[in-house]
Amino acid sequence: MEKEKVLITGAAGFLGSHLCDKFINEGFQVIGMDNFITGDQKNIQHLLVNPNFQFIEHDVTEFIKIDGRLDYILHFASPASPIDYLKIPIQTLKVGSLGTHNLLGLAKAKKARILIASTSEVYGDPLVHPQSEDYYGNVNTIGPRGVYDEAKRFQESITMAYHRFHGLETRIVRIFNTYGPRMRLNDGRVIPAFMGQALRGEDLTIFGDGLQTRSFCYVTDQVDGIYKLLFSNYSNPVNIGNPHEITIKDFAEEIIKLTGTDQKVTYKDLPKDDPLQRQPDISLAKKLLGWEPKVEREEGMLKTFNYFKNLTEDELYKSEHKDFTKHIKK
Ligand code: NAD
Ligand code: UDP
Repeated sequence: MEKEKVLITGAAGFLGSHLCDKFINEGFQVIGMDNFITGDQKNIQHLLVNPNFQFIEHDVTEFIKIDGRLDYILHFASPASPIDYLKIPIQTLKVGSLGTHNLLGLAKAKKARILIASTSEVYGDPLVHPQSEDYYGNVNTIGPRGVYDEAKRFQESITMAYHRFHGLETRIVRIFNTYGPRMRLNDGRVIPAFMGQALRGEDLTIFGDGLQTRSFCYVTDQVDGIYKLLFSNYSNPVNIGNPHEITIKDFAEEIIKLTGTDQKVTYKDLPKDDPLQRQPDISLAKKLLGWEPKVEREEGMLKTFNYFKNLTEDELYKSEHKDFTKHIKK
């Protein structure tokens, strides 16, 4: 019997590449699509020889052409780290809006079910804690993070419009901070940042007073949640994340202990609109999908640290930010 076919955008990124692995292991034919703007070919190198994987280098903000059948689409293409989307704000807005529009059009043409990657950032700097799906959020539309937050909010709106107006089968996952192997060491997010600093023997940089909180979910838990959501029959947004909340200050201490290094911490300014607290309410995912995270932070962090430890010296010291210019059309 012919395998079911799934298109995964953002395939060369952190989450996209793990999703490609998952769907191949579950017996699907996978088409990965990416323009490498924040991703890396290294993340899918092992799949390029797999007969069930096909890769298409393409910017999803341009018209997307896929021949033959397509059963599912997972739209994960988007810069995801605050530093990335500050450096490429227009590309971030375009991939969330124009890119999502193209993928919804493709899903309609192919009669495919589509799942889009939304984010806890739709809640902005939340005034409600923990955040449940019925909270409408507190977003500064014109602040530096607005390019990401509003693109993702638009993405949710247009997805619901295709669902209501065209009867398209849609799913929306609101992803809370997720981590694991294949994150880019210099993407500026707190886990690669702290681990890179510990490995290079530098001080760990805490932004603000470090009392802001985050709740970190290990990648295998996130991927399981997304997989279950895709095959559920629920089309409103669902939070997937780990509710185990920690302050960034305590987290820095945890990383120092875990890495067995003797680093100090140093304080820097808090970036504008950096959310002060974040914790997912996952009651809906538990009830609807029978899903909850299984991997404790200590175990997940150790696996992630082992990944970073095995990077080459060159990768470890290439601390300057990725050069996006060659991927940007003027
Ligand atoms: P990532 O940067 O590792 O991966 C994103 C991928 O999308 C990259 O490979 C990049 O090259 C690709 N991409 C970007 N713009 C593109 C375009 N126009 N055309 C084709 N490809 C493009 O980030 P990630 O952490 O894997 O995030 C993946 C998705 O999950 C994003 O949509 C992000 O908003 C969402 N998300 C992630 C987290 C998290 O904690 N990792 C949290 C919330 C939401
Ligand atoms: N952060 C920090 N030091 C760093 C990088 C990040 O203190 O070197 C803080 C950041 O200000 C935020 C938290 O860690 O409060 C998580 O940041 P990240 O960029 O990982 O993701 P966010 O959840 O803000 O999108």
